[in-house]
Amino acid sequence: MRSFVPNEGYSEVSGIPVRQGRRTVLVNGGGGFLGSHLCERLLQRGHSVICLDNFSTGRRTNVDHLASNTRFRIVEHDVRQPFDIDASLIFNFASPASPPDYQRDPVGTLLTNVLGAVNTLDCARKTGAIVVQSSTSEVYGDPNQSPQHESYCGNVNPIGPRGCYDEGKRSAETLFFDYHRTYGVDIKVGRIFNTYGPRMRLDDGRVVSNFIVQALRNADLTIYGDGQQTRSFCYVDDLIDGFLRFSAAGSACNGPINLGNPAEMTVRRLAEIIRDLTNSRSRIVHLPAVTDDPRQRRPDISRAMADLGWQPRIGLETGLARTVEYFDGLLAGTEKAEVV
Ligand code: NAD
Ligand code: UDP
Repeated sequence: MRSFVPNEGYSEVSGIPVRQGRRTVLVNGGGGFLGSHLCERLLQRGHSVICLDNFSTGRRTNVDHLASNTRFRIVEHDVRQPFDIDASLIFNFASPASPPDYQRDPVGTLLTNVLGAVNTLDCARKTGAIVVQSSTSEVYGDPNQSPQHESYCGNVNPIGPRGCYDEGKRSAETLFFDYHRTYGVDIKVGRIFNTYGPRMRLDDGRVVSNFIVQALRNADLTIYGDGQQTRSFCYVDDLIDGFLRFSAAGSACNGPINLGNPAEMTVRRLAEIIRDLTNSRSRIVHLPAVTDDPRQRRPDISRAMADLGWQPRIGLETGLARTVEYFDGLLAGTEKAEVV
């Protein structure tokens, strides 16, 4: 692992770079699935955390349990509008992430990623903060190379229904590297591959939450297309661990860096595993394929292993079991609320 090289005015506290003794970390999108786990882990490490979110796809209930902590603050704000917050480290996780979410308002999605990047980088430029971007495996589009290494430039359809997200994230990466080269902003770009776990929404629309909720309700498990498309699923705790290591890595470690679990499987296999794990009576059914759905996706994580000493530790069965437990509790609560 490349150890943290203190930059001008920076030192390291609990593995996180801090400036002049201040320990405030800004998490854009901190009310979402990944952002709320990140806020929690940063607080556990003793940092002060500002969660900036417009709660469009995230929920306040994700961070309710943090509200009593005096080091935690929520700022309701849209990253498309400028903001000025003095933190030593910024994580930009603000963007709809599930395909139904980001396709509901495609123009808003693109602008969130482009203007959100500009406003976050301008804020970092003013304050001297280190800024970490949550990019995505979607920058590789429907890859014709597998596994995907960071040097692969991708195969994205700019005018298809996924373009608003894919091109928004690609533009954000460009902005991050241009602010770095032009203004010397200390940036880090992490490319996240499909990550799952507790605090995904019941109606999030992504495959893991859909299949688990369907299986627990004994409803049909809906495969889009033939189910032979592949994904590689990473448990949330592993992903957050990767981002924390990345944020503490020396200033020469800008990325882009793939963060994901290389264990690849077909969507059909995932449906079978979840049905077995939940002892569900669900049928597995096939619905029409979605446009521009990538056929394969698997991260090459050799760079993360070499530069961060990171690799995922939590296997699919363990991660899914924890996620099933979470949704089981959520559904029990929902059904109780419906009865009352
Ligand atoms: P999420 O939808 O749960 O979280 C996104 C958060 O951003 C939400 O709280 C939402 O309210 C907030 N947000 C959206 N638009 C905003 C805006 N204009 N201003 C302020 N806040 C806004 O999704 P997630 O899975 O937690 O994803 C978090 C980040 O990680 C996203 O940037 C996403 O693109 C990226 N990512 C996630 C995955 C994954 O598998 N979970 C994969 C690749 C990339
Ligand atoms: N998928 C599916 N059924 C669902 C939801 C998704 O078959 O109910 C498929 C989807 O078409 C894709 C894969 O599962 O091939 C992963 O989809 P997801 O939305 O989770 O993430 P993506 O990787 O597409 O962004």
